[in-house]
Amino acid sequence: MAENKKSFILYCDLLGTISKLPDDQAGKLFKHILEYVNDKDPKIDDNLLLEVAFEPIKQTLKRDLQDWERKREARSAAGKKGMESKWGNSDAALLRSERMSEARKKGTHTKEQWKRLIEICENKCVKCGNEDIVKDHIKPIYQGGSDSINNLQPLCKFCNSSKGADSTNYIMQFLQKMPNKSNIAYQELTKITVSDSVNESVNVKVKENNIVDRKLKFSETLSPFLETYGRDMLNEFYRYWTEPNKSNTKFRMELERTWDLKRRLDTWDKNQKIIGGAPKVEKTNFKI
Ligand SMILES: [Zn+2]
Repeated sequence: MAENKKSFILYCDLLGTISKLPDDQAGKLFKHILEYVNDKDPKIDDNLLLEVAFEPIKQTLKRDLQDWERKREARSAAGKKGMESKWGNSDAALLRSERMSEARKKGTHTKEQWKRLIEICENKCVKCGNEDIVKDHIKPIYQGGSDSINNLQPLCKFCNSSKGADSTNYIMQFLQKMPNKSNIAYQELTKITVSDSVNESVNVKVKENNIVDRKLKFSETLSPFLETYGRDMLNEFYRYWTEPNKSNTKFRMELERTWDLKRRLDTWDKNQKIIGGAPKVEKTNFKI
C-alpha cells in the first residue's frame, strides 16, 4: 500500500467467497488481507484454499491502488497548474519580475511622485497628447533602466506598446513647450530621487535640462542688442540659433565652430534688409 493511503475497499461480493470458507480459514484470509494492505508481505504456506480465495481479492486491491495513484498524480498536477496560474510562474513573468527587482535596486518611486508627474504632464501622453496613459520606463527595464521617478514618463497605451527599444525622453520635449512653471515643478519632483546616482537616465535628464538653461543664458546675451535691432529680429535670431539637434543635446549656435555675436547680428540684420524682412515667427521662448 502506498504512503498516506489509509484505507482500502472490500467489495460486497467478497461474501460469495467468504461464505464458502470454514470460519478459521475466513479468519486467516481476513488477517492475510490486512497484512497484505499493510505491506507485511504475508506468505500463504501451501494453503491452496486461501491462495485461491485471496487471488481475486489481491487483483482488486492492486487495481484500486493503481487507480488511487493515478488520481493522486492528477490532483498534484492540477494543483501545480493552479499555483502557476496564480503566481504567473512562466519564464517570461519570472524574467520580468527579476528585471523589475533589478530596476528597483537602482531606484524606486512612490505613488504620490507618479501622481505628481502625470499632473505636471497634464494627464496626457507626453509623446502624442492622448489621454489613455500608462507608466512608461524611459530607459526600458530590460535595458537596465531604473524604476525611479526620473526614468518614468506617461505615455498612452499605443505609444507605450509601439515604442520598442526607443529610449527617447519625451518629457523633456514636452516640457520645452510648457511654461517655466512646469519645468520647475518637474525639477523639484525629480530631485527627490536624484540621490540614486547609479541611474543613468538622471545624467541624461541633467544634460537635457541643461539645454534649457543654456538657451536661457544665450537669450541673456541678446538683451544688450534689444535697442539696436528690435525685439522681432532678436526673436527670429534666437529661434533660428536655438533649434536643437535630433538628440536634443545641443542647439544650432553650439554647433558653430566660431561665434561672434555682434558680427552674427550684423550679418543677420543686413540679410534681413536685403531679403526684405524675415518670415513671421509664430511663437518664441525668448523673453527680454
Ligand atoms: Zn501617445
